[in-house]
Amino acid sequence: MSGLFFIGLSLPILDTILTAIIHSNTLKQELNLLGFDQIGIVKAQRLNAEAFQLESWLNKGYHGQMSYMERYFDIRIDPDKFLPGAKSIVMMSLNYFSDIEPKTPKVSRYALGEDYHKVIRKKTKAIVAYLKKEYGDIAIRGFVDSAPVMERVWAEKGGLGWNGKNTLTINPRKGSWFFLTGFMTDLMFDHYDDPIRDHCGTCRRCIDACPTNAIHQEGYLLDASKCISYLTIELRNAIPKEFHNQMEGWVYGCDICQEVCPWNRFAQPSNVEEFNPNPDLLKLGTKDWLELSDEVWGNLTSKSPIKRAGLEKLKENVKLILE
Ligand code: SF4
Ligand code: SF4
Repeated sequence: MSGLFFIGLSLPILDTILTAIIHSNTLKQELNLLGFDQIGIVKAQRLNAEAFQLESWLNKGYHGQMSYMERYFDIRIDPDKFLPGAKSIVMMSLNYFSDIEPKTPKVSRYALGEDYHKVIRKKTKAIVAYLKKEYGDIAIRGFVDSAPVMERVWAEKGGLGWNGKNTLTINPRKGSWFFLTGFMTDLMFDHYDDPIRDHCGTCRRCIDACPTNAIHQEGYLLDASKCISYLTIELRNAIPKEFHNQMEGWVYGCDICQEVCPWNRFAQPSNVEEFNPNPDLLKLGTKDWLELSDEVWGNLTSKSPIKRAGLEKLKENVKLILE
């Protein structure tokens, strides 16, 4: 075993005597080797203030048709319900930036490469294997995007960045072009990370640049039901008329509030090979999209997150930007 020691030798209760404390730096080094950029470790605790904010956000209907956001509310706000006995949450980021400028019809950068869920899950499996080998039969449960875990809240608490006015996690050195992932565990660490301060200041570029006014005027609050990402991917009905002239060429997702953010000016392309933009996807023009057969679509998106929207929806989105 490495990076582990014991505390509480004078305490009478046996399980306290054998409370294992892991060196956080040892784990961080391992996670760096797997390619994760920033790593923050926080104590698992119930999210009381955030529970109130989530409830209020849902009550306003800002999640639109994403009814899955209403489900598992208790699990979202309580790590102990996600992983009974959870003591710590380890949050990590993985850069997906590519410096290729999206051309109309535009696809959000995160979706140009392979499906991040699969890429990250592979890495998470390696983490679980490493931790079990080092520390024995521990409780551990990973998450990437689709689990009922408030990832941005934990990332902020772990100092990966502050949650900007565009509601994304922003790191002062890396910007915001990264995926968030993490795991909960019953392991305890010798050091826990602290949040960093908000550097948005008086900037409001994202608020002013958002074509659909999805970001509230004061920032930090998103009406996702107006966001182009939601409209082009999640919304099952036709995109409402009021948004038709506001899509700015986007047919899958939208990067505008990241493109305008000054903290992204030093962004470096990802070195995760799987996130390299698929050249076949990049060369599709408007006419190509509209003529795509099911078969070509299937091949093109077999490893891509784009398949989430479905070909029919994509074609509708493309037609809309031609109006
Ligand atoms: S992704 Fe686009 S539509 Fe959504 S909040 Fe950002 S700028 Fe607005
Ligand atoms: S664009 Fe400005 S206000 Fe918006 S998230 Fe970035 S720094 Fe904050």
